[in-house]
Amino acid sequence: MLSYSSWLYRKSPVWLQEAIIFFRFFIRKCLREGRTFKKIHGRIERTQWMTRDELQQYQDEQLYSILQHARSKIPFYQQQAQKDADAEMGVRDFVRQFPVLQKQTVVEHREMFVNPKHFGLKFKSATSGTTGLSMVGFRDLYSISFENAFLTRQLEWAGYQKGEKRAWIRGDMIVPPGTKKSPYWRVNRADNMLMLSAYHLSPTTVSLYIQELEKFDPVLIQAYPSAIAYMAEQLLSRGQLYRGTKLKGIVTSSESLSAAQRTSIERAMGVRVFDWYGSFERCVAIGTCEHGAYHLLTDYSFVECIPVDDTACELIGTGFGNFLMPLIRYRIGDSIVLADEEYQCPCGRAFPVVREIIGRVDDVVKTPDGKCIGMAINIFDGINNIIESQLVQDRIDEITLYLVVTPQFTETDKNALLQRAGDIIGTDIAFTIKTVERLNRTKNGKVRTIICNV
Ligand SMILES: [Zn+2]
Repeated sequence: MLSYSSWLYRKSPVWLQEAIIFFRFFIRKCLREGRTFKKIHGRIERTQWMTRDELQQYQDEQLYSILQHARSKIPFYQQQAQKDADAEMGVRDFVRQFPVLQKQTVVEHREMFVNPKHFGLKFKSATSGTTGLSMVGFRDLYSISFENAFLTRQLEWAGYQKGEKRAWIRGDMIVPPGTKKSPYWRVNRADNMLMLSAYHLSPTTVSLYIQELEKFDPVLIQAYPSAIAYMAEQLLSRGQLYRGTKLKGIVTSSESLSAAQRTSIERAMGVRVFDWYGSFERCVAIGTCEHGAYHLLTDYSFVECIPVDDTACELIGTGFGNFLMPLIRYRIGDSIVLADEEYQCPCGRAFPVVREIIGRVDDVVKTPDGKCIGMAINIFDGINNIIESQLVQDRIDEITLYLVVTPQFTETDKNALLQRAGDIIGTDIAFTIKTVERLNRTKNGKVRTIICNV
């Protein structure tokens, strides 16, 4: 389908771009909101109100079904021949026979995790992820509908109902890079949604963004924390507050949300922030309820929490939604702090409460014209032959991209990366690419994908 980075899209007038957006999102909607979606959505409308015991039983059934599937259909697990669960061995012992899965293993043996007998649509997506190792995932329609059902439920917790107006401030390149004049947004009529470009948000454009949002007056805003916090800070620094009248909630995701960001967003916008923690690997999801509590969604996946110190534990997750490429006991690389087991959230849901999410810290990149760009790591998406990547900014106008590459990495890949870096971060920064044997790690072995020393 026609992409936002294609020549045709970039050169089209705004009305034609909006027609293309309509077409893309209409197709997307048909795929993501079909019968399967409705079935899963209906089911998780009910599971959210289950008692602890009911929820555990539901979780055991889901877990058993994905484990059996992996064992019988997925080459990586077929080789290991785990014993089947029987009367003596419960499903929780069954799962512990499977090895804890590292990202590296999935990257190196990707094809062995995919069901070779799958018929029907297969969608490929790639990420550079938070630990710097690039990964490719495959999803089928069930997996996409499954994810969408849980996201939809999160939007509903934030007060949104299907069909209502919403705004979106994220990384989609709906406004061509290099655009120097308003509008920095496009209307997506398929979803009744105003899409604002996070890439063009700057000291000179922010007032226009706020005005446009107030005029559109959405019920819900979905945004990168860095983008909406930036707008909130701008409002507060001028002694102003958001003047839209219909807003009920803000759903943030994809970056870590700091306490400071949450405070300024809630003050300036006058509504609660509902932070959503998902993972590209679809093994853990954490949502925020109407009472502001983070809930570990135990109807989404089975999570083992391995203690790392007195308070925090590491997330090892087995998702229930992807039968095309199931990952069992996948090590996400992030930690959380759980509330006491007896603690009951006033919302009435039995999902465990998460006090804090640790470890998802994507630093921002700064630009000479005063912008702060979150998720700059997107520049590596879709570039071939990169194994690991790291972005280091030592001066405001200089960024070094450290890469661990495969022998197939060519000048073409290099140029594609430079082009993308210029598009996303800006052309007024000099980018240098350095290929290395291994990236620098932090004390606990993690690669910080973005290091900004400015
Ligand atoms: Zn709650």
